[in-house]
Amino acid sequence: MPLSDIQDRIAKACDEAGRTADSVTLIAVSKVQPDARVEAVLEQGHRCFGENRVQEAAGKWPGFRERFDGIDLHLIGPLQTNKARQAFDLFEAIHSVDRPKLAKTIARLAQEEGHCPDLFIQVNTGEEEQKAGVLPADADDFIAECRRMDLPVAGLMCIPPVEEEPSLHFALLGKIAQRNGLTGLSMGMSGDFERAIALGATHVRVGSAIFGERAYD
Ligand SMILES: *Cc1c(COP(=O)(O)O)cnc(C)c1O
Repeated sequence: MPLSDIQDRIAKACDEAGRTADSVTLIAVSKVQPDARVEAVLEQGHRCFGENRVQEAAGKWPGFRERFDGIDLHLIGPLQTNKARQAFDLFEAIHSVDRPKLAKTIARLAQEEGHCPDLFIQVNTGEEEQKAGVLPADADDFIAECRRMDLPVAGLMCIPPVEEEPSLHFALLGKIAQRNGLTGLSMGMSGDFERAIALGATHVRVGSAIFGERAYD
């Protein structure tokens, strides 16, 4: 689907929610996509992208940054502490902060480097065993802990269980954010970004609807 169609759908969802279209940032999720498809979206003027692996982003984005100004790259996948320094150099935002050890590593790097990407704390709203994220019951404490470390927490992120109605998870994430005074909400993907916007998403992560299906090998 053309980028402009996604932008129109976002604008419409914002309008229906009584929000302005610029209250939602579209993160075009380019993981696994061929460079030509990513380049086509860059050529259309879009600059905000999401990747879920540090290694893949490191291979792909330095080259694009040489050719296109103003790229805003978001890490939306899990981050190992031993890749945190590399992530600092590559990304403007990290959406997967989910444990004290990682938060501490990021705090130390922020001191050393004098800057820090915007951070989102990932919440495992479905309490799924295999999924990353802090449990909803632990979220308030973890948010407070990150703030004590002076980390720039922009908001919360979730990936709802595939089999469940995502709106319940979006609502839960919004509730946790609200009671902690956080405004950023990274939620909503190709199949449900309009529902996420209705429930307050500020960052939607849309991949296949923009680029087409991912061809994993
Ligand atoms: C891949 C991915 C997306 C995008 O998924 P689509 O269904 O292709 O839009 C969004 N968020 C995360 C965390 C992802 O890994």
